[in-house]
Amino acid sequence: MYKLIADYHTHTIYSHGEGTILENVEAARKKGLKKIAIADHGFNHIGIGMKISDIVRIRKEIKKINETFTDIEVLLGIEANLISLTGEIDIPEKILSEFDIILMGFHKAVKPASLRDAWNLFIKNGLDKLGLVNSETMRQINTMALIRAIEKYPIKILTHPGAKIDIDTRMLAKKAAELGVALEINASHGFMTEEYVRIALEEGAVFAINSDAHSPDQVGDFQRGLQIAKNAGVPPSRIINTEAAAGLH
Ligand SMILES: [Zn+2]
Ligand SMILES: [Zn+2]
Repeated sequence: MYKLIADYHTHTIYSHGEGTILENVEAARKKGLKKIAIADHGFNHIGIGMKISDIVRIRKEIKKINETFTDIEVLLGIEANLISLTGEIDIPEKILSEFDIILMGFHKAVKPASLRDAWNLFIKNGLDKLGLVNSETMRQINTMALIRAIEKYPIKILTHPGAKIDIDTRMLAKKAAELGVALEINASHGFMTEEYVRIALEEGAVFAINSDAHSPDQVGDFQRGLQIAKNAGVPPSRIINTEAAAGLH
């Protein structure tokens, strides 16, 4: 049974979501979810990233909500950004342990670790879209940077892999499977094909189907992601937020 009981990827007003933490939690409870992660955009996300100074407040809010409700568990998460070729992400080492769950994905409009990273990760990927650089080289560079990140950091979920940049799905999925990192089937982004999921499945990957909600009414809306997973033949036990995979999360 594809019964999804957790939504690990929801945004609030602490980045550019529309709802408060409480509003997202209330929406999740209405849909019968047992777990929700508040995973706002990482600190280097220009204009919308969460602020390090907000963490104490966010933790307090979450603690209070967890004390109030017994039917749901709220996790303090983050959707961190890849900021360098060597796999650095935008969470300073000393605050990594503040988070209950770390998600990471590639986004544009992010402050890179250096000028060299800006050129290679952000500008060249833009040129690739215009056909001005070697696509195969870019695919390798992007894939290796993501692999280094999941090797270095305690990342639980790679969000929308393949969105915004080109990746070698097979190579990334193989490494993610080895490290127990889930690949997200994002229910909001329309890019993720069944073909991609089938390849990752062959390599032994596990998945997470998330809403990527930017407003409370989208919390727990898994429809599109669920359809892709079903069509690609992903067994519920390989999706970390199903009831069937209770041991994995
Ligand atoms: Zn994202
Ligand atoms: Zn997101």
